[in-house]
Amino acid sequence: MYKQLKTTVSKNGNIQKLSRIFQPFNVIPMESQTKQKEKEIHSKSSKLMLELGIIKQSSPGCFNLLPLGIRALEKLTRIADEEMQSIGGQKVEFPTLINEKLWTLSGRVNEVKELFKLKDRHAHSYILGPTHEEIACELLSQSQHSYKDFPLILYQITNKFRDELKPRLGLIRSKQFCMKDMYSFDIDYEKAMETYSIVSDSYENFFNILGIEFHKVKGAAGVMGGSLSHEYHFSAEIGEDTLVRCSHCNHFTNVELVEENICPICKEKNQLIKSKGIEVGHTFFLGDRYSKPFNANFINKTGKNINLQMCCFGLGLTRILAASIETLSTDQEIRWPKPIAPYSVLIIPPKAGSKEEPIANSLLERLYHSLDNIQHVKKDILVDDRTDLTIGRRNIQGKKMGYPFIIVLGNRIKEDPVLFELHDVNGGIQVDLAFEDLLTYINEAYNK
Ligand SMILES: [Zn+2]
Repeated sequence: MYKQLKTTVSKNGNIQKLSRIFQPFNVIPMESQTKQKEKEIHSKSSKLMLELGIIKQSSPGCFNLLPLGIRALEKLTRIADEEMQSIGGQKVEFPTLINEKLWTLSGRVNEVKELFKLKDRHAHSYILGPTHEEIACELLSQSQHSYKDFPLILYQITNKFRDELKPRLGLIRSKQFCMKDMYSFDIDYEKAMETYSIVSDSYENFFNILGIEFHKVKGAAGVMGGSLSHEYHFSAEIGEDTLVRCSHCNHFTNVELVEENICPICKEKNQLIKSKGIEVGHTFFLGDRYSKPFNANFINKTGKNINLQMCCFGLGLTRILAASIETLSTDQEIRWPKPIAPYSVLIIPPKAGSKEEPIANSLLERLYHSLDNIQHVKKDILVDDRTDLTIGRRNIQGKKMGYPFIIVLGNRIKEDPVLFELHDVNGGIQVDLAFEDLLTYINEAYNK
């Protein structure tokens, strides 16, 4: 057990203490696997997330998301919600249990190998939803719609299921995963293309907020049907998709679409280099591929019943979480996109019994509550209260966890004015700052 830090609970609320967080470190060695097998199953991100108690495996491809992992996923979910709602997306929740008849009607039931199928006690067949085009169209078909009701954009953020042949790389290829899936309905092709382009812009915003370089490439439609699609990728060695980069114009394309080593953008020859990517988002124009069999229709100006034009848009949120870590981290230390780190600021008070300890207690409260008044880090500050450990040891662990800002109450808190040791972990900067300068630094870091 860790010694509890002596802090009084102020009227501003509780100080969040690291010692109270359920974060089991991986002390039990992983079951004996050959080196090669381990390489196939694990990646930098899955190893770090497992070892540092962010996720734990329950069975292959199924994971417990622990408190720090959920904090990060919830932040990512909020960013997705804000982006989707800013373009008129309305949040819904479709059932996870999908009547198999719907997939028989669309003709996909035998096409998709990765379906989880199950029966209820009346022997009715269901599938665990991997995607919800059928459900969305069936919903629309249940009522009459005027051409004035469109565009309509519905989305959900829920767990999806795929019976993966080889689950691997932790949350990057798992059997259960959290996905944002969105379905748009328009009255004609031109309007559907307008919606497609608006959503594509919001995807770019979403990835820009995360601050990770992404590559948008034309995609193959595959089992979704439809005539136009784009994939969004993060570059990573462990990626399962092969992308092609033109070293002349730096444009990325999908390998399947490039013929004879000619860049489709700048038309230069022999400048294409293969690279690996993790697919983190996908958009499709589906036309009437689903609206037709389901009679998802609207009544036009002349009173005619017409099939709606549909698009669908996916973002794999748990995969984005893991792929971000994969992209930013070193083998030893996690790095998060700043907006989704489980906590933004870690404060490390002095070791128990040190000369600094008596000064630190009142400083800590003041610092904590002043930081808590900064909008971007509000309720996002953690105190490493394990004061039986040295500052150095806690600092190493804090960096390993990748908290974007670590504030150490070190020996310079005895000086006048008091100086705090700030570690800007993502920026690789260490600097001693006075109280007000420290607050300014952190505030500005989130307003850049
Ligand atoms: Zn080019």
